[in-house]
Amino acid sequence: MSLAVNQPVKTTCPYCGVGCGIVAGVNSDGNVVVRGDQDHPANYGRLCSKGSALGETTGLAGRLLHPEMYDRRSSWDAALSEVAQRFTSVIKQHGRQAVAFYVSGQLLTEDYYVANKLMKGFIGSANIDTNSRLCMASSVAGHKRAFGSDTVPGNYQDFELADLIVLTGSNTAWCHPVLFQRITKAKNHRPALKVVVIDPRRTATCDIADLHLPLKPGTDTILWNGLLIYLAQHNGLNFEFIESHCENYPAALKSAKDSSPSIISVARDCGLEEEDVARFFAMFLSTEKVVSAYSQGVNQSSCGTDKVNAIINCHLLTARIGHPGMGPFSITGQPNAMGGREAGGLANQLAAHMELDNPQHRMLVQQFWNSPRIADTPGLKAVELFDAMNAGDIKAVWIMATNPVVSIPNADSVRTALDKCEFVVMSDCMRHTDTTAYADVLLPALTWGEKMGTVTNSERRISVQRQFLASPGEAQPDWWIICEVAKRMGFKDAFGFTSVADIFREHAALSACENSGTRDFDIGGLARLSDREYFELKPVQWPVTSASPMGTERCFIDHKFNTVTGKARFIEIKPRSSANPLDQQYPLVLNTGRVRDHWHTMTRTGKSARLSAHISEPMLDIHPDDARRFRLSNEALACVASRWGKVIARVNVSDQQRIGSVFVPMHWNDQYARQARIDTVVNPAVDPVSGEPEFKHTPVNVAPYQPLWYGFVLSRRELGFPGISYYVKVTGNHFSRYELAGEQTPADWAVWARGLLCAPAADVEWIDYLDKAAGNYRGARLIGNNLESCVFVAPTINLPARSWLSGLFAKDELSGAERASILSGRVAKGQPDAGRIICSCFGVGENTLKEAIKKQDLTSVEAIGQRLKAGTNCGSCIPELKALITQKKR
Ligand code: SF4
Repeated sequence: MSLAVNQPVKTTCPYCGVGCGIVAGVNSDGNVVVRGDQDHPANYGRLCSKGSALGETTGLAGRLLHPEMYDRRSSWDAALSEVAQRFTSVIKQHGRQAVAFYVSGQLLTEDYYVANKLMKGFIGSANIDTNSRLCMASSVAGHKRAFGSDTVPGNYQDFELADLIVLTGSNTAWCHPVLFQRITKAKNHRPALKVVVIDPRRTATCDIADLHLPLKPGTDTILWNGLLIYLAQHNGLNFEFIESHCENYPAALKSAKDSSPSIISVARDCGLEEEDVARFFAMFLSTEKVVSAYSQGVNQSSCGTDKVNAIINCHLLTARIGHPGMGPFSITGQPNAMGGREAGGLANQLAAHMELDNPQHRMLVQQFWNSPRIADTPGLKAVELFDAMNAGDIKAVWIMATNPVVSIPNADSVRTALDKCEFVVMSDCMRHTDTTAYADVLLPALTWGEKMGTVTNSERRISVQRQFLASPGEAQPDWWIICEVAKRMGFKDAFGFTSVADIFREHAALSACENSGTRDFDIGGLARLSDREYFELKPVQWPVTSASPMGTERCFIDHKFNTVTGKARFIEIKPRSSANPLDQQYPLVLNTGRVRDHWHTMTRTGKSARLSAHISEPMLDIHPDDARRFRLSNEALACVASRWGKVIARVNVSDQQRIGSVFVPMHWNDQYARQARIDTVVNPAVDPVSGEPEFKHTPVNVAPYQPLWYGFVLSRRELGFPGISYYVKVTGNHFSRYELAGEQTPADWAVWARGLLCAPAADVEWIDYLDKAAGNYRGARLIGNNLESCVFVAPTINLPARSWLSGLFAKDELSGAERASILSGRVAKGQPDAGRIICSCFGVGENTLKEAIKKQDLTSVEAIGQRLKAGTNCGSCIPELKALITQKKR
């Protein structure tokens, strides 16, 4: 299919929970082009670096395009029948609890709906859990404890209407960039809007902070309990609201007093300055319109649910909820984490926000589905599920659109679990991930741009992802794959959906069934959409009912909550230390998370040269004092080890890091690096209420990793480097870069290099240079004077600049000076070395920026934009541009 760019389709970004609207199409050259949708209320035309680069990630390289069984291509019919037959046989032999689905926030709501219907209503087990468990289950649990329902009260507009925004455990600038841009714009327009950032690290988000509280990791509940006490003691309570609409206030206040009696104790226990704590408390007290937004820094903890409720308690105390410009706000990680919650994708939920432990809800859902049975006990949550597999209790698993070998804590245990599991099915769009290696059956799924369905963003807004690309190979939408298996398991009538719109209508009807305002999640107003109306559905916030046909901007306006009493519930918060305290052997806290330009396990963003140019290797962020203490040098390699595993990462010494705490990104996996899956290091402790793992607090040790040599290769061909201990692959423009380090030195570098790079071809020339005394080797393979590949090796990290050499791959022919410069390892005279890319949109590097700031005396982001264009498109790099300007001033 070749869609002209003048026939664009409105769709939704497949990355983060901001849920930006996108206009996408294919131009006359066959390239996918995207731009922000001006009409979408989440982003009003803005896109971040990841969204802007979507067009570079839709190629078919590496795609799974045909079903496979036991490593051989198969027909769809054979593969689907095998899945149905093996699941049926395991159930017959070992019972319903011996099978499981592990699904993903990348699935569309309709996919989730049928997967959940099959497992809970027809197989009769609740063993379906989603990777959203890893990022926001604590928010779900916190909402339910406080409100009686998993309801986000407000919306993005509240960030613009607020007078104080508290961003806690959220690097919004990098993880939810368009929401950050909306806050920045509001603050620029109205400087009275204050921003407080609570985070152990000084992240890019602090760029707009009036106050940064770099609290000791894991002490959030002490801080928020302290705020509760302060508000109570300084006449910050709204007695009328508490009396009429809340319960359990005295008990919550008492436990807060026990843990956080004074500003002095809070500052001491949280490792903060007293005056900063006092300032934050005073700002919160004196500001009516406060939004407290939180994300994975709060959720991913062994007391994540308590952290969520400690925040909500402060909003209940002040009645700052349900009105414009105020409220607690959970920013979700994934594009459809919310949709999954709505369809019952978590093992402890039913469907349509109904409860497994509520007999009426079970009966209602079973009758609605006309199903032979209904699960009546909670299923296994993500970490438990793989533990049960390791114990031999799960005999058959179906993993959909996710990569648990990389993303589950103590990740190597997932490998042993999948090895032990008798039957592993995977539906995925990629052929080779760290997890597909364990699949008995591989089912090719369509991906973004090729399929259609709905997603829900952090503000309860349902948007449609629409198809604008042809379906490649034999790939099919996930909902179709699930329904075909269900039919083959004997459930033909219940899964006879003929379109994705059919599924949506059933999902909407179930949400309204016997609801009458008893459950917030009600989209009954959409249950009768025609196919065309479904296709044309405009973004809308639930609930959508006959009373609110255009959706609902804010919930709890009437101060009625979904608990049995209709009152919101204060929760007693007793701060607990981490499940795994530090000790002499493991004295540092490991925090993991995202970088600006990569997404999850890089299956999509790893394909983009511009997204790979910002941070191209897994890095260890460490404070200078800790770097000295552990003998680590900037840009050298370090080993990060815990009781569970170890990785090797490039050292980034940074005073933005808190002393005693280090950070490693979550993205790198075996497809892009060796020994870099950080979740092999992360401890498997989970929050006892939500089951969410503690990704933000693992005791680790760090030490220099000292190989015998360092090197890198740039090559137009894909190369493999078996047996080399440090290996990272970086996508470039028409080439790949391989960063290497080895523990064994080849007897002859020239023989080694030629063996790796010098495949025979016509017109090939090999040039090289060995400095035996210094141990440096440089070689290049030229075809017709065009650079095809090159290799650089040295005994230290002092190697030539990668950005300059990368630029040579854009040239048709090398000049004599450039050939000589490769062999000398020095930038040819007059050749620029842009340095690490900061602005992905225009490819502007750190060296270029530093030089322009210095020589042209650029003192503002606007001035940089005028000279170099950096920061003028998606704006994701603006905090880093400001940091470079500040650096120069020092
Ligand atoms: Fe996509 Fe970026 Fe918008 Fe998130 S902020 S939805 S990644 S464009």
